Amino acid sequence: MQNSDPQEISKFDAIASHWWDKEGEFRPLHDINPKRLEYIMQHSQSLQHKQVLDVGCGGGILSESMAHYGAKVTAIDLSENALSVARLHLYESQLNIDYQHISAEDLAAKQPHSFDIVTCMEMLEHVPDPAAIIQACAILVKPDGDLYFSTINRNIKAYTLAILGAEYILHLLPKGTHDYAKLIRPSELDKWIRKSGMEMLDVTGIQYNPLLHQCYLSSDIDVNYLVYAKKKALSGNIIND
Ligand code: SAH
Repeated sequence: MQNSDPQEISKFDAIASHWWDKEGEFRPLHDINPKRLEYIMQHSQSLQHKQVLDVGCGGGILSESMAHYGAKVTAIDLSENALSVARLHLYESQLNIDYQHISAEDLAAKQPHSFDIVTCMEMLEHVPDPAAIIQACAILVKPDGDLYFSTINRNIKAYTLAILGAEYILHLLPKGTHDYAKLIRPSELDKWIRKSGMEMLDVTGIQYNPLLHQCYLSSDIDVNYLVYAKKKALSGNIIND
């Protein structure tokens, strides 16, 4: 059975044409992207010639920025429309990215231990079984490889800012973009990461001011946060191999 929620995919299909509208629904992702990239660079040093996989890539905001810094990017999503927009945008950016319509689990079965870096940003909170995506990412990355996840914490502050504030008061995101029950606490992410033979090495908050469109990294992980994890060098045999 596919680990994806058809309602989530059609939600992203419906707004796909807006991916590269920097004033539109995806503006928060455009605004926070430089800081996500900075975080990746900080931990992985260089992206030059690295094999990178971007899971749940959407229109390719993060994928393109990593390709821009020399990474050889494969990017996957289950929204056909998002992938069409992402592929079209390559004509404008003149970058080279291998966009594929495939689930993380299916790619893990086909191409285990293939990537130096795996990123999965703002996607885990949209899937029925995030632990299974994390496990697939653990299989996809090479031993000793780097993984980056980002999502939204689950508490009253996150509900107030990320759902009530962003969707219902400021109308930054379409209503229903995030479902409170699917938000993920760092401790839950840590548990799934450890279960998959990886180690969580850092958690950093993303502070975003939607009115000023300003973003910075901080120690406050109450709402949006980034995680850096590493696959242990000798933990190769998790599942499927
Ligand atoms: N990672 C991108 C996009 C985040 S939006 C960024 O941060 O810029 C979430 C994306 O996850 C959407 O494009 C949606 O289509 C995708 N998605 C949702 N469920 C998925 C699944 N099960 N497998 C792959 N992609 C999925």
